[in-house]
Amino acid sequence: MTSSADLYCVMGNPVAHSRSPAIHARFAELTGQTLAYERRLVPMDGFVQGVRDFMAEGGRGCNITVPFKIEAPRLATHCSERVQLAGAANVLTFGADGSIHADNTDGLGLVADITRNAGVSLAGRDVLLLGAGGAAAGALGPLLRAGVRHITVANRTLARAQTLVQSHAALALLQNTELLALEPQALEADFDVIINATASSLTGADVPVAAHVLRPGSLACDLMYGPAAQGFLDWAKAHGAVPRDGLGMLVEQAAEAFLLWRGVRPPSAQVLAEMLRAA
Ligand code: NAP
Repeated sequence: MTSSADLYCVMGNPVAHSRSPAIHARFAELTGQTLAYERRLVPMDGFVQGVRDFMAEGGRGCNITVPFKIEAPRLATHCSERVQLAGAANVLTFGADGSIHADNTDGLGLVADITRNAGVSLAGRDVLLLGAGGAAAGALGPLLRAGVRHITVANRTLARAQTLVQSHAALALLQNTELLALEPQALEADFDVIINATASSLTGADVPVAAHVLRPGSLACDLMYGPAAQGFLDWAKAHGAVPRDGLGMLVEQAAEAFLLWRGVRPPSAQVLAEMLRAA
């Protein structure tokens, strides 16, 4: 890091597993940008102070990860349409006047990874979105905009899934997409695409759904990546699905954040390919 480098970070708890610093460093290298990007572990009750401290140190922006995405918009002076719809943010950009702009690039990253990197069209598909936290909230709008036929949001706390479905009901109607909220135990159907946006893999918990939701050849994505996602990926493969972890989404959502911060789109497919080769 040089003293003239613009400073960014990823803020969360836990945050040690995050590969965002390596991704942004590579984006900067490939686009000729001068920046430094670090991890910031903040206490569970210390998110607001963490952001204030980082701004005071001259930070230009930060990514927000688990569990602060829903808290993040409350700090912002301006929220993008995507944040207003999701009620969650994963990107903050700090203005020189102390303003804080919140955006959400998680869903854009997920859809880009599924459609461009995995080559799976979402149009007309039946999708199961597991979870109703910050990541699921960010994913739902872009999934609806991708033209899927049906989405079930299933969460162990049903009320949170219902709230998410209600806040997206108008968009679902506009997109002619059927949108339902269920408890995971109440699921009877199977799906073309299953997205685990719960924190089950992060916390080492069991796969939060029964295998009958998978069809042969279903795409089964866990938003987690690295060794912690392996249990879900093995489960999906053992039941005839095509497993995919969250690394591609991570790179694609980071690319959207980098574009917001630096005004230049980094070569995300190249960076993902490099990371997969190095794995
Ligand atoms: P969050 O806001 O804390 O939400 C967690 C969600 O997981 C809630 O719906 C929660 O259900 C559910 N959950 C937690 N533990 C569970 C368990 N053992 N069984 C079933 N459900 C459980 O977290 P988040 O920000 O949405 O992140 C979720 C996951 O996505 C994390 O693993 C995170 O690393 C990953 N992620 C990856 C990317 C990427 O770019 N690849 C981006 C964003 C997030 P309740 O509502 O019932 O508590």
